[in-house]
Amino acid sequence: MSTAATSTLSDRLAEFQSAYDELKARGLKLDLTRGKPAADQLALSDAMLSLPGEGVFTDAAGTDLRNYGGPSGLPELRAIFSDALQVPVPQLLALGNSSLTLMHDVLTFAMLHGVPGSERPWGREETVSFLCPVPGYDRHFAITEALGVRMIPVPLNEDGPDIAAVKAAIAVDPTIKGIWCVPVYSNPTGDVYSPEVARELVSLDAADDFRIFWDNAYAVHHITDWRPEPIDILSLAAEAGHPDRVFVFGSTSKVTYAGSGVAFFGSSVENVQWFSRWAAFQSIGPDKLNQLRHVALLQSPEGVAAHMEKHRALIAPKFAAVQEVFGRRLSPFGVGSWTDPKGGYFVTLTVSPGVAKRAIALAAGAGIAITPAGSTHPYLDDPEDAVIRIAPTFPTIEDLNAGLEGFCTALLLAEAEKAAA
Ligand code: PLP
Repeated sequence: MSTAATSTLSDRLAEFQSAYDELKARGLKLDLTRGKPAADQLALSDAMLSLPGEGVFTDAAGTDLRNYGGPSGLPELRAIFSDALQVPVPQLLALGNSSLTLMHDVLTFAMLHGVPGSERPWGREETVSFLCPVPGYDRHFAITEALGVRMIPVPLNEDGPDIAAVKAAIAVDPTIKGIWCVPVYSNPTGDVYSPEVARELVSLDAADDFRIFWDNAYAVHHITDWRPEPIDILSLAAEAGHPDRVFVFGSTSKVTYAGSGVAFFGSSVENVQWFSRWAAFQSIGPDKLNQLRHVALLQSPEGVAAHMEKHRALIAPKFAAVQEVFGRRLSPFGVGSWTDPKGGYFVTLTVSPGVAKRAIALAAGAGIAITPAGSTHPYLDDPEDAVIRIAPTFPTIEDLNAGLEGFCTALLLAEAEKAAA
C-alpha cells in the first residue's frame, strides 16, 4: 500500500471506528462463509425428486439398477461427464455422493497399500509429504493432515502452482508423494491452470509413485462466456512418460444437489484397476438409481451446459456484487486486492499482512461471519495473515450486499488501526 493511502487510512481511524460502532449497533446476523449452492440453485434440479419415475429402473443395457453390482457406475452417466472431466469413459468411474470421500479413500488406500509404482505402502514410509498450493481448499488440507501426511505450501499463481517452487521442493525432498490441484476455478482464488503448467506438472522429475490429485470440482461451473482450454491431463501424463501420475476427481455436488450428487474418479487403466480392487472391499456397487436420476435430468453434455447456464444466471450477479462493493468501498483507500473469477464458488481477498484475523474478528463482532483467516492454508496457518475467502453464492443478494458492506466497514477499521499503529 502506498504511503499516501496509508496516511489517508490512519487519518480516518476515528471515522472508520464510528462507522463500525454504528454497524455493530445494527445487530446483523449474516454469514458469508458457506461455499454451497443457494436454495434457488438446488431448485433447478427438483425434477430429480420424481425421477426416474415409477417403473423406471433399468439402464440402456437393460440391467436392473435396483440391485447390487455395477461397481464402475452407470455407463450413460460416465459418458455425459467424460468430456467435461477429460477422461475416457472406460477409465471414468461414477460412484457415491462425494468426491471428497473418493479423495480420502484414494489417499487412505495409498497409505495402506501403496499405489502402482510404490516400493511399499506410503504409511510405511518414515514421512510422506504433499505439496499444497496456497491459497487452497481447507478440506484437502484436512484430509491430508488427518491421514498423517505432512503438508508443504507452494504458491498458487494465476496459471497454476508455481512450478519453480514445486521443482525446488521436490529436488530436495524425496518424501514428497503428491500435490493437490484444482485446475479450473480453483478454490478459493478462481484461478485456472494453463496447459503449460499442467504439462510441467506431469513432467516433473518426481518419485515413481508421485501422484497429482487433480480435483476438477468446477469443470463446468462457468459464470461468464469464457471457457477454459480443456486440459487432457491423462494424455499429457502419458505423453510425458508418466501415465499413472494423475488421479482425476469431480462431482455433481454443485451441478445438482450438494450431498446427493454423484462423484467421479478417473485415471490410467492401471490406476483404475488399483482403485477398483481396494474399493471392492468397501461396497457392492454405488447408488445407481441416483445415477439414473442424474441421466434423466441432465441427459447429455449439452444438457449439463444448459443446466449450468441456469446456475450462472443465479450466481453471476452475486459475484458481480462482490466486485462492485469491494471496488467502491476499498479501492478509494488502496485497501486489498481481490480475484475476479470467471467461475467456481469463491473469491479471494488479500489484505495487508497481519490484518486478516483482526478484520474477520471485527466482522464477527458486528454479526457477520467470514471464513476464518488461515483456512486457505495448511495447518490453518497463513503466515502473512492476509488471505480471506469470500463465498458469495449461498446468501440472498440482499444479505450478500449487506454482509459485504459490513465486512468492508470492519476491514477498513482493521486496516486503519494497522496504519495508525
Ligand atoms: N473439491 C473442491 C475444490 C471443492 O471446493 C469442494 C466443495 O466445496 C469439493 C471438492 C466437495 O466435493 P464433493 O461434494 O463432491 O465431496
